Amino acid sequence: AQLMMLNSEKLSVAGQLAAGIAHEIRNPLTAIKGFVKLLQRQLQEKPHYFEIIDSEIDRIELILNELLILAKPQAIEYHEKNLLSILEQVTTLLESQALLRNVEIQKQFDMHELIIQCDENQLKQVFINFIKNAIEAMPDGGALCIRVSLEGRSQDEVAICIIDQGCGIPEEQLAKLGEPFFSTKEKGTGLGFMVSKKIIESHDGTLLVKSRVNEGTEIKIILPKSRVTELPATQQKHA
Ligand code: ADP
Ligand code: MG
Repeated sequence: AQLMMLNSEKLSVAGQLAAGIAHEIRNPLTAIKGFVKLLQRQLQEKPHYFEIIDSEIDRIELILNELLILAKPQAIEYHEKNLLSILEQVTTLLESQALLRNVEIQKQFDMHELIIQCDENQLKQVFINFIKNAIEAMPDGGALCIRVSLEGRSQDEVAICIIDQGCGIPEEQLAKLGEPFFSTKEKGTGLGFMVSKKIIESHDGTLLVKSRVNEGTEIKIILPKSRVTELPATQQKHA
């Protein structure tokens, strides 16, 4: 298996990102503009044009939604939350999508409650991204395992593993994970990984990816249980 730690330099390429965004937004917009012009000429004759406009607008929205998370790094608020109930909520949300694709979500939690310092909405975004990727990697179905355990010398780290039995990621593509707009999917944005990595880093966490083509992928997120330095003394009961 290939193992790599995604380095943070990939995120500091603001220029590359801006150029990428401009391109990515310009392309669907050009299509919209063109078809709107055609519509002006032959209004009732080609209702199909409306569908194209709709799907291009959807795509812009999808990209902009993911970018919004990047654009608001200041809005992060850390609170003590039960990580397991966050994961339960996310899996409930994605359960129907998984079932439709014959994917069985298995949860292996070593404990019944696990309080961590985190921004709940941002972590939800991370789990949704990785679980969606795992589902999408298994077009013929399979098992998707979500494991939570404690790690570190004094069990002060939380490891969340999202393991699929999907298509896997070829070695030459592993290095591209986290680069803006790297996607192998026809309708992918290539932003999920980058956004997730950014959120994990802002939680002082680490992201590890292990993958083997045609066997599957393991995403491992390691988060500190508490962020002691940023807590007032009165709130350190879970430290
Ligand atoms: P998107 O899902 O929109 O393509 P992501 O940033 O989420 O963008 O993922 C980037 C690419 O990484 C995907 O297009 C896919 O090629 C690869 N990838 C991510 N997760 C997995 C996975 N679990 N199994 C296989 N390939 C994956
Ligand atoms: Mg994705």
